[in-house]
Amino acid sequence: MSELALFGGKPVRSTPFPAYKTLGEEEKAAAVRVVSAGVLSDFIGRDGPRFGGGAEVHALEAEWASRFAVKHAVSVNSATSGLYAALGAVGLEPGDEVVVSPYTMSASAAGAFVYGAKPVFADIDPETFCITAKTIEPVLTKRTRAILAVDLFGHPIDATPMMELAKRHGLLVIEDAAQAAGSTYHGKAAGTLGHMGVFSLNVHKIIQAGEGGIVVTDDDRLAERLRLVRNHGEVVVRDRKITENADIVGFNYRMTELEAAVSREQLKKLDRFAAGWTENSECLQKALSDLPGLRPARLAEGCTSVYYQLAVHYDATAMGVHRDVFIDAMRAEGVPLGQGYVEPLYYQPLYEKRHPGDPAYRRGACPIAESMWSERLINMSLIHASMTRKDLEDVAAAFHKVVEHRRELLA
Ligand SMILES: *Cc1c(COP(=O)(O)O)cnc(C)c1O
Repeated sequence: MSELALFGGKPVRSTPFPAYKTLGEEEKAAAVRVVSAGVLSDFIGRDGPRFGGGAEVHALEAEWASRFAVKHAVSVNSATSGLYAALGAVGLEPGDEVVVSPYTMSASAAGAFVYGAKPVFADIDPETFCITAKTIEPVLTKRTRAILAVDLFGHPIDATPMMELAKRHGLLVIEDAAQAAGSTYHGKAAGTLGHMGVFSLNVHKIIQAGEGGIVVTDDDRLAERLRLVRNHGEVVVRDRKITENADIVGFNYRMTELEAAVSREQLKKLDRFAAGWTENSECLQKALSDLPGLRPARLAEGCTSVYYQLAVHYDATAMGVHRDVFIDAMRAEGVPLGQGYVEPLYYQPLYEKRHPGDPAYRRGACPIAESMWSERLINMSLIHASMTRKDLEDVAAAFHKVVEHRRELLA
């Protein structure tokens, strides 16, 4: 009779792990304040003080800009909207190209299509999971206008060489920091490393308001364009005597007062939550450090991470079994592991449909991203700030148990 729960043994953990909780009395009071005031959104799509939204939206933007030491914070109703607004602010035209990561949430790559532009994939670095100057440079063409780089799993992009490359080629860099609120790069906040940075406030992120997003920039012109994209910009440009940016088509990407009020309270707690994510992840990394075949991904020099996902490299040769068999055994022990995050985005039918036969979208285009997804990476969204010491010990105990009994998996 096997010890492993996969073959009928007693699982290490038989109760679910805690959900990540961020909301408290402060958010409740904020929501009550807004509902009592009776104004759930205070945007109007015409020129005037309310073109930029209501009191809570304005306050959130000022507080966000101050916390992240940026000139402008433009709130939107999701990070997806924020990414699309940033691409609109770039001024993409049909046929332009945007260099993106294949290994990320789908909206970070698909946004180029909104403007008739083409997403071009650069492979990821195997340690940080981000695209880098080295992987971006070979895919640049005369049509490249922008780089959209993701701080994947909370690890900041290597911004210094990327910004130098962008400068040399006259490109704008959009940083997708949806997973990285609280991470830093040589002392600078993730999200503030490119020309524009995008944060998410959706329910799954480090801080949240159900849905929501923030775009930050130090550039006045880009900030104006972002605000025009957010709120039907074509209506206001004449009254505002805007000529240079009069070509913009606006959307409705407006954040509600309710989301803004909740986000303000969440922002006050960001540092505390971020520290909890980092501490718990580092605690588990230590507990796994002496296991053969498993190696937590290393932080690049000068970086801190909130470890939105904890990434662990899996070595099938050392372990003797395929990653997916190992993951099945861990899940049977009551520990839900991720199976390599997402498939490379160019596997989605969308890309072949838009550009039939294009070699850039063929399997094999980004071999590192492909191998992480198919066999080399274990990712964990489980290790968040609401995990207790006992929860972390159970996760570590399951890893140790499965590694110790791995020969049983060979049969
Ligand atoms: C969550 C996420 C988004 C999208 O965020 P929404 O606010 O849900 O639109 C974009 N990029 C990355 C990397 C994300 O993790």
